[in-house]
Amino acid sequence: TKWVYPFAKGQADGRADMKELLGGKGANLAEMCALGLPVPPGFTITTEVCTYFTEHEKTYPADLKDQVNAALARVEEDMSASFGGKGGDGLLLVSVRSGARASMPGMMDTVLNLGLNDETVEILARVSGDARFAYDSYRRFIQMYGDVVLGVDHHHFEDLLEDHKDERDLTLDTDLTADDWKILVERYKEKVADQLGQPFPQDPHDQLWGAVGAVFGSWMNQRAITYRRLHHIPADWGTAVNVQAMVFGNMGDTSATGVCFTRNPATGENLFYGEYLINAQGEDVVAGIRTPQPLTILEKKTANTELPAMEETMPETFAELDGVRHRLEQHYHDMQDMEFTVQEGRLWMLQTRTGKRTVKAALKIAVDMVDEGLIDESEAVRRLDPGQMEQLLHPMLDPNAPRTLLGQGLPASPGAASGRVVFNAEDAEAWSDRGEKVILVRIETSPEDIGGMHVAQGILTTRGGMTSHAAVVARGMGKPCVSGAGGITVDYAAKTLSALGEVVREGEIITLDGATGEIMVGRVPTIEPELSGDFSRLMDWVDAIKTMGVRANAETPLDAQTARNFGAEGIGLCRTEHMFFDKERIIHIREMILAANEADRRAALANLLPYQRRDFIELFKIMDGLPVTVRLLDPPLHEFLPHGAKDVADVAKALGVSDEAIEERAKSLHEINPMLGHRGCRLGITYPEIYEMQAQAIFEACAEIIQGGGKVTPEVMIPLIATKKEFSILKAVIDHAAAQVRAEKGVALDYMVGTMIELPRAALRAGEIAAGDDGAEFFSFGTNDLTQTTFGLSRDDAGRFIQIYREKAVIENDPFVTLDREGVGELVGIGVERGRAARPGMKTGICGEHGGDPASVMFCQSVGLDYVSCSPYRVPIARLAAAQAAL
Ligand code: PEP
Ligand code: MG
Repeated sequence: TKWVYPFAKGQADGRADMKELLGGKGANLAEMCALGLPVPPGFTITTEVCTYFTEHEKTYPADLKDQVNAALARVEEDMSASFGGKGGDGLLLVSVRSGARASMPGMMDTVLNLGLNDETVEILARVSGDARFAYDSYRRFIQMYGDVVLGVDHHHFEDLLEDHKDERDLTLDTDLTADDWKILVERYKEKVADQLGQPFPQDPHDQLWGAVGAVFGSWMNQRAITYRRLHHIPADWGTAVNVQAMVFGNMGDTSATGVCFTRNPATGENLFYGEYLINAQGEDVVAGIRTPQPLTILEKKTANTELPAMEETMPETFAELDGVRHRLEQHYHDMQDMEFTVQEGRLWMLQTRTGKRTVKAALKIAVDMVDEGLIDESEAVRRLDPGQMEQLLHPMLDPNAPRTLLGQGLPASPGAASGRVVFNAEDAEAWSDRGEKVILVRIETSPEDIGGMHVAQGILTTRGGMTSHAAVVARGMGKPCVSGAGGITVDYAAKTLSALGEVVREGEIITLDGATGEIMVGRVPTIEPELSGDFSRLMDWVDAIKTMGVRANAETPLDAQTARNFGAEGIGLCRTEHMFFDKERIIHIREMILAANEADRRAALANLLPYQRRDFIELFKIMDGLPVTVRLLDPPLHEFLPHGAKDVADVAKALGVSDEAIEERAKSLHEINPMLGHRGCRLGITYPEIYEMQAQAIFEACAEIIQGGGKVTPEVMIPLIATKKEFSILKAVIDHAAAQVRAEKGVALDYMVGTMIELPRAALRAGEIAAGDDGAEFFSFGTNDLTQTTFGLSRDDAGRFIQIYREKAVIENDPFVTLDREGVGELVGIGVERGRAARPGMKTGICGEHGGDPASVMFCQSVGLDYVSCSPYRVPIARLAAAQAAL
């Protein structure tokens, strides 16, 4: 077996695509070397050796030693130097570094300057002409090796250094002379012998094997294990070990070390960007002890610093580095993050990898690279993270601004907002009428809070999950919302909220970050999003690639318009009960719900009809012929019952009965379990006149549009179907209404009647539900309720403990956010399959909140849904995710 992959002088056995075997660092070192870039020669010991080492009680394959020796001999030859310093003047020192498939910054061990001992340090002093440098390097090596390989804690060495400084009255490390370091080297070695009962290893080969073992061993250290668990990196990947000739950035003023990006990782601008330090080793840049200097003159100007740029201090080496920059981008077709060292004027590349970047930079770089011919359009689409893209669509908190955390809840609706705290919807409206920006804080929200939610900058609730009323409505409005912030206590009477011993009163300012769930004291400044040309160009490519449709969940004209602006191809869910949330109308809905008999109910419905018709006309106009799925009333009753004496009095007056009668009625309608109660199609079965009115309003609106020369094809949708019988009864009600309008207006109506699949029984019986003339013509999976009913997990209460479930790794994701493929997903798959078996080619979609979640969109493609439907602000994210799913 080949365990060792050498690289030297334009030749390498490895390649960039061998990351599994060579780790990221090793694979890219090989690639750079093969490109002819200046890479210090070396070799990579494969990840397979790591696995062997772990499985065989820290021993190696029998033929490894010979392969390492052969590779080492090649490095010696290449550097005209000897490991151990025998024969001739050249001395080879090496670095030993870990390098896993995925970057695990700082998790595993590194040893530098390996090969130094009592003899070779003299050679280093002679060759470099700098005894101080040589002994300083030796003591650094003893300390690093002692700590990493031998397990002698670094504080022992630091104590010795401090003692010596005190004795000699010295403050800075740079005050120490060669003789000081010489003394310390002796003391360091004594300390090691003292701690271990044996001397510090002098044989460079012993040192090498010690370091290799330590790096392989560090794959299993606690730090690395924890990091892997958090980042879902499997333990059996293993790490590679890279052994490489040392180059020194600390050999005086013609030496340096630095890190750089081929483009600006914050903005994406195609400008060289980086930092360097003269006369320093790589560790010094990372450690942040000295202030690094800018790479280019432009950066120096932007940063407004006096520190000289590398472009000025080392113009020739800089030009060479700039050449490497272009070479690497042309080769990798992506932005690179590099490490380099300059030893006495000579440039050496120590690492390259794909550079991390902000989402703004990711967008710009992807579009620019298409223009530069480096990548094609589908590659650009592949490179953007849909989850991250959400950041581009909402105002964001200035990442550089300081923040004082008050608490944390669920990131229910993204975006950032600051405002004065108010504790009820009325106050929100009153304050906002006065021109104040407010944050509405509620324990939980209900439909009568809508007015307040509408004027608020953001919404905070202390109860409720990701599909609670507050969360769904806020996402629909594109407003930031943090829900279920259980650590915060709200006192409505005192108008205060308290957390972490801090009390915030009405009128005081807080800031919400709906993307992280953070709640902050005071105002944190925000920055506006920029949906510039790059964004729309990328979205054009997205649309050309994706095969699934993307619709929006929208019911108000504003939502519908927003959805269209974001590229929605129709409405996948118009929740008609949301059309009655405003003050003027909620009264009629309450009249209807609280009516004691059919006559009263019909009277209330007659009041609602004109509103409905007008709303549908407006919606159909905005959507201009695009499909619109209108869902008939599905109000969990508790959302609409009157709260408090004033509500009761209003309804009583409207119905012409006593307050007590209304209270009685409300009490009798109270449900223990409203989510599983008298809602959805059950309302239509018990009071068919409700759906009759809605269907009439839909078809009359259609007639008006058609008579005005427009086009509309409504998809009428029945919620919460469990049985075929429910569906066929209600379909007949709708067909009847259509026939009446047709007869009355004399227009041909084109429509479909379908159902939501949001109960497990409906998914299982999908074949029956879709079959025949009285069957459903389309399905839309309501995965909010389907998740609720499949898990038996209340969507309004889960927020309180779902975080703990995640922390304890009981579940990986909140199933209300990312669709549970195994359980809920299986039901969706069954629904599609059985539905289409009964009705070939039947249209299927999803309208639960999952329709805007990238991982769930991926799943929707895999089960063959025709479209996904999501909140208007998520439409671009769903489009991108759908394109990636199609690639
Ligand atoms: C659903 O249940 O997934 C759905 C879209 O309906 P709602 O959220 O209105 O219950
Ligand atoms: Mg539902």
